[in-house]
Amino acid sequence: MNIQPTASHFIDGQYVEDTTGAPIPVICQMSEEVIATVHAATPAIIEQALASAKRAQTAWAAMSGTERGRVLRRAADIMRARNEELSILETNDTGKPLQETRVADATSGADALEYFGGLAGSLTGEHIQLGDDFVYTRREPLGVCVGIGAWNYPTQIACWKGAPALACGNAMIFKPSETTPLCALKIAEILHEAGAPAGIYNVVQGMGDVGQALITDPRVAKVSLTGSVPTGRKVYAAAAAGMRHVTMELGGKSPLVIFDDADLENAVSGAILGNFYSSGQVCSNGTRVFVQKGIKDAFLARMTERLADVKMGDPLDESVNFGPMVSARQRDIVEGFIAKGIAEGATLITGGKRAGDKGYFLEPTVFADVTDDMTIARDEIFGPVMSVLDFETEAEALTRANATEFGLAAGVFTSDLTRAHRMVAGFEAGTCYINTYNLAPVEAPFGGSKQSGVGRENSKAAIEHYTQLKGVYVAMGDVEAPF
Ligand code: NDP
Repeated sequence: MNIQPTASHFIDGQYVEDTTGAPIPVICQMSEEVIATVHAATPAIIEQALASAKRAQTAWAAMSGTERGRVLRRAADIMRARNEELSILETNDTGKPLQETRVADATSGADALEYFGGLAGSLTGEHIQLGDDFVYTRREPLGVCVGIGAWNYPTQIACWKGAPALACGNAMIFKPSETTPLCALKIAEILHEAGAPAGIYNVVQGMGDVGQALITDPRVAKVSLTGSVPTGRKVYAAAAAGMRHVTMELGGKSPLVIFDDADLENAVSGAILGNFYSSGQVCSNGTRVFVQKGIKDAFLARMTERLADVKMGDPLDESVNFGPMVSARQRDIVEGFIAKGIAEGATLITGGKRAGDKGYFLEPTVFADVTDDMTIARDEIFGPVMSVLDFETEAEALTRANATEFGLAAGVFTSDLTRAHRMVAGFEAGTCYINTYNLAPVEAPFGGSKQSGVGRENSKAAIEHYTQLKGVYVAMGDVEAPF
């Protein structure tokens, strides 16, 4: 299948090509063949994107929030109407099964556009009375924002960053991951079809150097990155040099704690969602599954049974529920971790191997008897590898759950209500779950603490990260001066 986009970039309301940029092949995860090629942005393309965003932003910010919101909500409607087409594109870009992309990607992107479109008209400052004098605050956009995306949710990330940015009156330049360059172009196309002025949402392709060129440009006020912790450090440092605002949505090694009194079936379902959805390529995954000793054998037995229902194959086949890894590189990285798990003495319960003659398939893999010091319990793997660790007491589970540099997410399964809330209060993580895992509705804040990030996406909290307050002092009387 060839899914070549109209051109590599979308700038100033139209597709733009410059084939002098380095070619970036898009590889089908199933056939391992090149299905499209885009070109990295050249300095001329980057300049076009920056100039057009800067030009467009002032007029966009001058529109009323209701008018801006209308554009976003119209874009949400278009996305929903084209869900099938967008889901197929997402599947082609990432290799995630169509069964998944139909319900998780364009739909989540549309939710963000609808939600922030709805909020746009109600953004306000406040009035602070000081005797006769008073102060009022204006909630103002930041200006031109850069969004840099990871490869696991290209449609969703493009919308989760674009929707609040645009709602608040900013312009956005979005650079997708070079591994999944296609979906964001469609978002730009749809936003402009919905009435967004030219230049308000530009997409440019490229690798880290293009990201760096964007975030170090003096016209840029903010960068929002979804990516790994090492990339986050580089991007944060580059942003700091120019005193730019940041949102950092980074990696994790999140704990999922399952107590003896948990509903077994729900706990197994939660662990499946938190380890194997999107073939394990989800930042908030609960990959350190702490299972209390009394339920461990039943948990492992039921997990193994449930994994027998995994159906691997062509992700475009509607009955397939487990797709290949996004790339050969990612498959190799994950295989390396599996080898380390075996070498360091973890017990391989199921999986651990490649599957199929073609395609970047890896079996869903479960290790038991994992200890805190093993590599598979410490490093983010970003693949379908679950580590099961034993524990005995609540206090022990909490201490060990928090013994990581990451702090993205955490979950607990228990039927003891007070214990659930105690655990959540103690978790050092930005996003927590009680008796479920990995749900991310747009109404709820999403993001990490510790090394997993700075700032929050989604919910009203995102507004804080795409606006700044201006305080205005108004004197009602004469000005007193000492001389
Ligand atoms: P990377 O950190 O490798 O890349 C993220 C993005 O940053 C890519 O677009 C990449 O470009 C770009 N980039 C790389 N280097 C630089 C640089 N020096 N300056 C500017 N931009 C740069 O992450 P992956 O794409 O491999 O995604 C996986 C990671 O993302 C995992 O750690 C995962 O946990 C995290 N993630 C976090 C989420 C969250 O919300 N917290 C959600 C999803 C994923 P390119 O790769 O094209 O060269």
